[in-house]
Amino acid sequence: MKAIILLGAPGSGKGTTAEKIEAESGYAHVSTGDMLRSAVKNETEVGKLAESYMKRGELVPDDVMIKVIEERLDSGGSDAAYMFDGYPRTVAQADLLESSLKGREGVLEVVVFLDAPREVLISRLTGRRVCRNCGTSYHVVNIPPKQEGVCDSCGGELYQRPDDQEDTIINRLDVYNQQTESLVDRYEKQGILVRVDSAQGADNLATEVAAILKAGPRSAGH
Ligand code: ADP
Ligand code: ZN
Repeated sequence: MKAIILLGAPGSGKGTTAEKIEAESGYAHVSTGDMLRSAVKNETEVGKLAESYMKRGELVPDDVMIKVIEERLDSGGSDAAYMFDGYPRTVAQADLLESSLKGREGVLEVVVFLDAPREVLISRLTGRRVCRNCGTSYHVVNIPPKQEGVCDSCGGELYQRPDDQEDTIINRLDVYNQQTESLVDRYEKQGILVRVDSAQGADNLATEVAAILKAGPRSAGH
Protein backbone atom coordinates (compact mmCIF):
# COMPACT_ATOMS: atom_id res chain seq x y z
CA MET A 1 0.00 0.00 0.00
CA LYS A 2 1.19 3.51 -0.72
CA ALA A 3 -0.14 6.91 0.22
CA ILE A 4 0.38 10.58 -0.38
CA ILE A 5 -1.16 13.48 1.54
CA LEU A 6 -2.50 16.76 0.23
CA LEU A 7 -2.05 19.06 3.23
CA GLY A 8 -3.41 22.58 3.48
CA ALA A 9 -5.93 24.92 5.04
CA PRO A 10 -9.60 24.90 4.11
CA GLY A 11 -9.80 26.60 0.72
CA SER A 12 -6.25 25.71 -0.28
CA GLY A 13 -7.56 23.62 -3.19
CA LYS A 14 -6.98 20.07 -1.95
CA GLY A 15 -10.28 18.70 -3.19
CA THR A 16 -10.26 20.50 -6.53
CA THR A 17 -6.70 19.40 -7.21
CA ALA A 18 -7.41 15.81 -6.20
CA GLU A 19 -10.44 15.64 -8.51
CA LYS A 20 -8.41 16.95 -11.42
CA ILE A 21 -5.47 14.60 -11.07
CA GLU A 22 -7.02 11.46 -9.60
CA ALA A 23 -7.42 9.54 -12.87
CA GLU A 24 -3.97 10.22 -14.28
CA SER A 25 -2.17 9.89 -10.94
CA GLY A 26 -3.28 6.35 -10.13
CA TYR A 27 -3.97 7.32 -6.50
CA ALA A 28 -7.52 6.93 -5.21
CA HIS A 29 -8.86 10.19 -3.80
CA VAL A 30 -9.82 9.79 -0.14
CA SER A 31 -11.60 12.92 1.13
CA THR A 32 -12.66 12.62 4.76
CA GLY A 33 -14.86 15.71 4.27
CA ASP A 34 -16.75 14.01 1.42
CA MET A 35 -16.99 10.77 3.40
CA LEU A 36 -18.44 12.63 6.38
CA ARG A 37 -20.88 14.65 4.25
CA SER A 38 -22.20 11.47 2.71
CA ALA A 39 -22.48 9.88 6.17
CA VAL A 40 -24.53 12.89 7.33
CA LYS A 41 -26.75 12.68 4.26
CA ASN A 42 -27.35 8.95 4.79
CA GLU A 43 -27.91 9.47 8.52
CA THR A 44 -25.42 6.78 9.51
CA GLU A 45 -24.05 6.43 13.05
CA VAL A 46 -20.90 8.35 12.05
CA GLY A 47 -23.02 10.98 10.30
CA LYS A 48 -25.08 11.59 13.43
CA LEU A 49 -21.92 11.98 15.50
CA ALA A 50 -20.23 14.28 12.96
CA GLU A 51 -23.00 16.65 11.91
CA SER A 52 -22.93 19.22 14.71
CA TYR A 53 -19.14 19.53 14.63
CA MET A 54 -19.11 20.07 10.89
CA LYS A 55 -21.82 22.73 11.08
CA ARG A 56 -19.76 24.72 13.57
CA GLY A 57 -16.55 24.29 11.56
CA GLU A 58 -14.93 22.21 14.29
CA LEU A 59 -13.11 18.95 13.90
CA VAL A 60 -14.95 15.69 14.29
CA PRO A 61 -13.38 13.86 17.28
CA ASP A 62 -10.30 11.76 16.53
CA ASP A 63 -11.83 8.48 17.73
CA VAL A 64 -14.61 8.82 15.15
CA MET A 65 -12.19 9.76 12.38
CA ILE A 66 -9.85 6.92 13.19
CA LYS A 67 -12.67 4.40 12.66
CA VAL A 68 -13.64 6.04 9.38
CA ILE A 69 -10.09 5.87 8.03
CA GLU A 70 -9.34 2.34 9.21
CA GLU A 71 -12.49 1.11 7.48
CA ARG A 72 -11.48 2.86 4.28
CA LEU A 73 -7.96 1.40 4.37
CA ASP A 74 -9.34 -2.08 4.98
CA SER A 75 -11.54 -1.79 1.90
CA GLY A 76 -8.49 -1.58 -0.43
CA GLY A 77 -6.02 -4.34 -1.26
CA SER A 78 -2.33 -4.39 -0.37
CA ASP A 79 -1.44 -2.71 -3.67
CA ALA A 80 -3.87 0.18 -3.09
CA ALA A 81 -2.63 3.75 -3.58
CA TYR A 82 -4.33 6.57 -1.67
CA MET A 83 -4.35 10.33 -2.01
CA PHE A 84 -5.53 11.72 1.33
CA ASP A 85 -7.38 15.02 1.27
CA GLY A 86 -8.35 16.44 4.65
CA TYR A 87 -6.60 13.72 6.63
CA PRO A 88 -4.66 13.84 8.90
CA ARG A 89 -5.77 17.06 10.58
CA THR A 90 -4.40 16.55 14.10
CA VAL A 91 -1.20 15.15 15.60
CA ALA A 92 -3.15 12.13 16.88
CA GLN A 93 -4.47 11.41 13.39
CA ALA A 94 -0.98 11.72 11.92
CA ASP A 95 0.39 9.30 14.52
CA LEU A 96 -2.37 6.86 13.78
CA LEU A 97 -1.94 7.11 10.03
CA GLU A 98 1.72 6.25 10.39
CA SER A 99 0.99 3.17 12.47
CA SER A 100 -1.90 2.13 10.18
CA LEU A 101 0.41 2.30 7.20
CA LYS A 102 3.15 0.40 9.00
CA GLY A 103 0.72 -2.35 9.93
CA ARG A 104 -0.23 -2.70 6.28
CA GLU A 105 3.28 -2.53 4.77
CA GLY A 106 2.39 0.94 3.55
CA VAL A 107 4.65 3.86 2.68
CA LEU A 108 3.90 7.55 3.01
CA GLU A 109 5.63 8.70 -0.16
CA VAL A 110 5.19 12.45 -0.15
CA VAL A 111 3.20 15.20 1.53
CA VAL A 112 2.25 18.09 -0.75
CA PHE A 113 1.61 21.28 1.20
CA LEU A 114 -0.76 23.66 -0.60
CA ASP A 115 0.21 27.05 0.75
CA ALA A 116 -1.92 30.18 0.29
CA PRO A 117 -2.46 33.44 2.20
CA ARG A 118 -5.52 33.82 4.41
CA GLU A 119 -7.26 36.38 2.13
CA VAL A 120 -7.09 33.92 -0.76
CA LEU A 121 -8.52 31.12 1.40
CA ILE A 122 -11.42 33.29 2.57
CA SER A 123 -12.36 34.45 -0.93
CA ARG A 124 -12.21 30.91 -2.26
CA LEU A 125 -14.41 29.53 0.50
CA THR A 126 -17.03 32.29 0.36
CA GLY A 127 -17.32 31.85 -3.44
CA ARG A 128 -17.34 28.05 -3.45
CA ARG A 129 -20.34 26.18 -4.87
CA VAL A 130 -20.62 22.40 -4.88
CA CYS A 131 -22.69 19.99 -6.95
CA ARG A 132 -25.33 18.34 -4.79
CA ASN A 133 -25.25 15.29 -7.01
CA CYS A 134 -21.58 14.50 -7.85
CA GLY A 135 -19.66 16.75 -5.44
CA THR A 136 -17.65 18.68 -8.05
CA SER A 137 -16.49 22.08 -6.75
CA TYR A 138 -16.88 25.41 -8.53
CA HIS A 139 -16.20 29.04 -7.65
CA VAL A 140 -18.50 31.89 -8.62
CA VAL A 141 -15.55 33.90 -10.00
CA ASN A 142 -12.53 31.61 -10.41
CA ILE A 143 -14.15 28.41 -11.69
CA PRO A 144 -17.66 29.31 -12.82
CA PRO A 145 -19.91 26.62 -14.27
CA LYS A 146 -21.01 27.11 -17.89
CA GLN A 147 -24.55 27.73 -16.70
CA GLU A 148 -25.11 29.46 -13.34
CA GLY A 149 -26.17 27.06 -10.60
CA VAL A 150 -25.79 23.94 -12.76
CA CYS A 151 -23.00 21.34 -12.68
CA ASP A 152 -21.02 21.05 -15.95
CA SER A 153 -20.32 17.36 -15.51
CA CYS A 154 -23.70 15.99 -14.41
CA GLY A 155 -26.31 18.76 -14.63
CA GLY A 156 -26.87 18.61 -10.85
CA GLU A 157 -27.82 21.59 -8.72
CA LEU A 158 -24.99 23.69 -7.23
CA TYR A 159 -25.30 24.76 -3.60
CA GLN A 160 -23.30 26.54 -0.93
CA ARG A 161 -22.06 24.29 1.86
CA PRO A 162 -23.49 25.35 5.23
CA ASP A 163 -19.96 25.59 6.63
CA ASP A 164 -18.97 28.04 3.86
CA GLN A 165 -20.76 30.92 5.64
CA GLU A 166 -18.31 33.66 6.61
CA ASP A 167 -18.28 33.21 10.43
CA THR A 168 -17.90 29.44 10.14
CA ILE A 169 -15.08 29.95 7.65
CA ILE A 170 -13.15 32.08 10.15
CA ASN A 171 -13.61 29.36 12.77
CA ARG A 172 -12.37 26.66 10.36
CA LEU A 173 -9.26 28.67 9.55
CA ASP A 174 -8.56 29.18 13.27
CA VAL A 175 -9.04 25.47 13.91
CA TYR A 176 -6.60 24.75 11.08
CA ASN A 177 -3.99 27.10 12.60
CA GLN A 178 -4.42 25.57 16.05
CA GLN A 179 -4.67 21.88 15.25
CA THR A 180 -3.37 21.10 11.78
CA GLU A 181 -0.69 23.59 10.77
CA SER A 182 2.02 21.97 12.94
CA LEU A 183 1.88 18.92 10.67
CA VAL A 184 3.78 20.97 8.07
CA ASP A 185 6.81 20.97 10.39
CA ARG A 186 6.40 17.32 11.21
CA TYR A 187 6.56 16.23 7.57
CA GLU A 188 9.27 18.75 6.74
CA LYS A 189 11.44 17.16 9.45
CA GLN A 190 10.72 13.74 7.94
CA GLY A 191 12.04 15.06 4.63
CA ILE A 192 8.88 14.21 2.71
CA LEU A 193 7.22 17.63 2.43
CA VAL A 194 6.98 19.50 -0.86
CA ARG A 195 5.55 23.01 -0.66
CA VAL A 196 3.58 24.49 -3.56
CA ASP A 197 2.12 27.95 -4.01
CA SER A 198 -1.59 27.23 -4.13
CA ALA A 199 -2.58 30.86 -4.78
CA GLN A 200 -2.48 30.17 -8.51
CA GLY A 201 -5.04 28.98 -11.03
CA ALA A 202 -6.59 25.57 -10.42
CA ASP A 203 -5.23 24.08 -13.67
CA ASN A 204 -1.66 25.21 -13.02
CA LEU A 205 -1.82 23.97 -9.47
CA ALA A 206 -3.08 20.57 -10.59
CA THR A 207 -0.30 20.29 -13.18
CA GLU A 208 2.31 21.13 -10.57
CA VAL A 209 0.98 18.60 -8.05
CA ALA A 210 0.67 15.88 -10.71
CA ALA A 211 4.34 16.41 -11.61
CA ILE A 212 5.36 16.07 -7.97
CA LEU A 213 3.55 12.73 -7.70
CA LYS A 214 5.09 11.55 -10.94
CA ALA A 215 8.55 12.35 -9.61
CA GLY A 216 8.03 9.54 -7.09
CA PRO A 217 8.48 9.01 -3.35
CA ARG A 218 10.53 11.39 -1.22
CA SER A 219 10.80 8.78 1.52
CA ALA A 220 13.42 6.06 1.46
CA GLY A 221 10.81 3.33 1.79
CA HIS A 222 9.96 1.31 4.88
P1 ADP B 1 -12.26 21.96 4.24
O1 ADP B 1 -10.90 21.34 4.08
O2 ADP B 1 -12.58 22.93 3.16
O3 ADP B 1 -12.54 22.47 5.62
P2 ADP B 1 -13.50 19.33 4.28
O4 ADP B 1 -14.56 18.92 3.34
O5 ADP B 1 -12.18 18.68 4.18
O6 ADP B 1 -13.39 20.89 4.05
O7 ADP B 1 -14.02 19.17 5.78
C1 ADP B 1 -15.27 19.62 6.21
C2 ADP B 1 -15.47 19.32 7.68
O8 ADP B 1 -15.44 17.91 7.90
C3 ADP B 1 -14.41 19.87 8.63
O9 ADP B 1 -14.65 21.22 8.99
C4 ADP B 1 -14.53 18.91 9.81
O10 ADP B 1 -15.65 19.23 10.62
C5 ADP B 1 -14.81 17.59 9.15
N1 ADP B 1 -13.57 16.82 8.87
C6 ADP B 1 -13.07 16.49 7.65
N2 ADP B 1 -11.92 15.80 7.78
C7 ADP B 1 -11.69 15.69 9.10
C8 ADP B 1 -10.66 15.10 9.90
N3 ADP B 1 -9.62 14.47 9.33
N4 ADP B 1 -10.74 15.20 11.24
C9 ADP B 1 -11.78 15.82 11.84
N5 ADP B 1 -12.77 16.40 11.16
C10 ADP B 1 -12.74 16.34 9.81
ZN1 ZN C 1 -22.34 17.23 -10.68
